Amino acid sequence: MLREEKVTRFAPSPTGPLHLGHAYAALIAAERAGGGRFLLRIEDIDRTRSRKEYEAQIFDDLYWLGLSWAMPVIRQSERLKEYRQALEKLAGLGVVYPCHCRRADIRAALAAPQEGVTLSGPDGPVYPGLCRGRSMADVTANSALRLDMQKALSLVGHLTFSELGPMHPGLHSIVPDQMVTQIGDVALSRRDMGTSYHLSVVVDDAAQGITEVTRGSDLFDASFIHVLLRALLQLPPTTYYHHDLIRDQEGKRLAKRDDARAISYYRTKGATPQDIKRMIGL
Ligand code: GLU
Repeated sequence: MLREEKVTRFAPSPTGPLHLGHAYAALIAAERAGGGRFLLRIEDIDRTRSRKEYEAQIFDDLYWLGLSWAMPVIRQSERLKEYRQALEKLAGLGVVYPCHCRRADIRAALAAPQEGVTLSGPDGPVYPGLCRGRSMADVTANSALRLDMQKALSLVGHLTFSELGPMHPGLHSIVPDQMVTQIGDVALSRRDMGTSYHLSVVVDDAAQGITEVTRGSDLFDASFIHVLLRALLQLPPTTYYHHDLIRDQEGKRLAKRDDARAISYYRTKGATPQDIKRMIGL
């Protein structure tokens, strides 16, 4: 039998300069590809924060680090049609409903005491279900679309995924009760984007033929949502590799706005790619 070629990816959002944490993520993803393919994806669905200048700087910094990737590079802002098709497929399963809540409505509902409900999960506050049960006939130009988590789980069998990274290694199961209380009805499409991070990542990882999703461990919990969405959309499963995060001396995760840590900053100071690798422990 032919062994499947390994395909990994680095999926930065062009919302700020690449910093040391990105260099680490990109180098790990490229290394994990081994003799297979390493791909790049520009995650620019947040049109208010994404900038072409940052995208150009991403390519430049990655080349400078010595990385190369297989073509084509995909850009999420050009794939809204694919996301719409996936949403239609999910809607066809009856697991999507329109949500008209504003943040203030959600905050107010969450302020009311609720028994046995986790108020904040890996996807932020667990949506209190105010619009659950609305029909797709209620969709307006301003609707967000949410996944009815309970219904979605009732359509899939027992789901698992393999994590190969150092932080949570092993086989993980999707536990329906935990999905409902800790994650809840995630947004699949935000009114300002026509999609959401979770939906686009799942659609794109499948479209790019990714066999191992490599990314930071801050996104480990999101994998449970992604595995469920893949199953609902009948997309092939992948393995996962969540790497540790590069932190500053105080143990704080490097945020993109920490400009002082930007790769471009070190470049202007005369650092070499080897210096960067040394700084991130590679
Ligand atoms: N675009 C995300 C980020 O820059 C990464 C998403 C992913 O790897 O799944 O943090």
